[in-house]
Amino acid sequence: MNKPVVAIVGRPNVGKSTLFNRIVGNRVSIVEDKPSITRDRLYSDTEWLGRPFLLVDTGGIELDADTELKDKMRYQAQVAIDEAEIILFVVDIREGLTATDREVANFLRQSNKDVIVVANKAENHEQAEMDKYDFYELGFEEIYLISAQHGLGTGDLLDQVIDYFPEHEEDDYAQDAIKVSIIGRPNVGKSSLVNKILGQKRVIVSDIAGTTRDAIDTYFEHEEKDYVIIDTAGIRRKGKVNLGVERYSVIRSLKAIDRSDIALMVIDATEGMTEQDKKVAGYAHEAGKGIVLVVNKWDLVEKDGRTMNRYLKEIRHEAKFLNYAPVTFVSALTGKRVLEVLEIANYVAEQHARRVDTSVLNSVIEEATLMFEPPANKQGKRLKIYYGTQPRVKPPTFVMFVNNPELINFSYRRYLKNQLRKSFGFEGTPIKIIVRERS
Ligand code: GDP
Ligand code: GDP
Repeated sequence: MNKPVVAIVGRPNVGKSTLFNRIVGNRVSIVEDKPSITRDRLYSDTEWLGRPFLLVDTGGIELDADTELKDKMRYQAQVAIDEAEIILFVVDIREGLTATDREVANFLRQSNKDVIVVANKAENHEQAEMDKYDFYELGFEEIYLISAQHGLGTGDLLDQVIDYFPEHEEDDYAQDAIKVSIIGRPNVGKSSLVNKILGQKRVIVSDIAGTTRDAIDTYFEHEEKDYVIIDTAGIRRKGKVNLGVERYSVIRSLKAIDRSDIALMVIDATEGMTEQDKKVAGYAHEAGKGIVLVVNKWDLVEKDGRTMNRYLKEIRHEAKFLNYAPVTFVSALTGKRVLEVLEIANYVAEQHARRVDTSVLNSVIEEATLMFEPPANKQGKRLKIYYGTQPRVKPPTFVMFVNNPELINFSYRRYLKNQLRKSFGFEGTPIKIIVRERS
């Protein structure tokens, strides 16, 4: 699915991060068991009236400390123009128009993006209604008065935002084509890996299909399976600006993850998994995507008989929430094991789409509850699981009908997941458990 990106732009102190938190704070999480991922202020998955979107606070982009305000604003606006469908241009109504606001506006106007001027700090509504007219000088049609701090006017603003969303578009790839995103920091070898895979004799690149905007996907066939690499253009495109370019490419990666079934996270063997890798992988996890960890540049590592195991241990330790993800060690340079990556992706895609038999599922649940008694609350009332079903795949999602959903706790939920994995596998895919009261 293509998730629209909404970017917040504006000079420092106008209230961008307050607005960001206000919008994201209302989010009801559908993932009940959150892994311990540190949340980034820069971007968040959120929704309004059931319409999901990705919210980006460009003020959170870290640039060199000695970057001048003017360059910083230019850069942040450029990120918004390149990556976002809708731009929220925040100004401070109490301070009025400033020269920096005008500069940002000049820049934004040159793009053909939908820009909404958000006049913040408008608690004094009557005054703000009068002051608002000054801001029409910026040349944008829509001006919304809000107070991010007090939550005034943000609902109307979001109504307008989702109104601007492009028509919902599904990629019309064959139902059984495996959609793969290749993610990872710059220079880990993503484009080398893609080139190596596509360059193999047994891989038939049959089509290059453009989807939304400047994303280009690559369709290919290998051993009678169809694959699509999502946004090959984004993988091959080299950063055109140097300032903070890493944070920039993250947004593009998140969009690619949204549109894919399986995320291949490429890690440089000489660097290991970084904080940013964990955040991006955490996003894929929460979005319910299959995940494969590809340790590249394996040719550069000096090896003895235990090196691979040591690496594996380290990665497992670094990203505990990804304990289900297969790890493979490759070299995009020499081609070692690159085709195996496809086999693993294929296997993970099967697990991701796997539906288990209801009666087998229920005997697994029954056995699990016999082996380890469900938790009870302080009054001695004990969780009872009556039965389970698997209504959804991609990722496998289980609904367990219970006497009282409040009685389940984090560790029992994790225990149940482990039991499901033990019985069914589900390698490489997150699984979800929803508990419902049996009516
Ligand atoms: P940013 O630099 O644009 O991200 O701005 P912040 O969100 O950090 O806000 C800058 C300052 O403005 C903080 O002191 C906020 O508490 C304050 N602020 C943000 N929103 C409002 C608002 O709606 N009304 C008022 N009065 N202050 C606000
Ligand atoms: P991207 O930015 O993630 O797409 O990375 P590139 O594919 O552009 O690779 C960055 C650099 O790493 C290039 O100089 C590649 O030649 C090099 N590189 C990529 N894969 C490997 C590998 O497996 N081994 C070695 N030694 N170098 C690699």
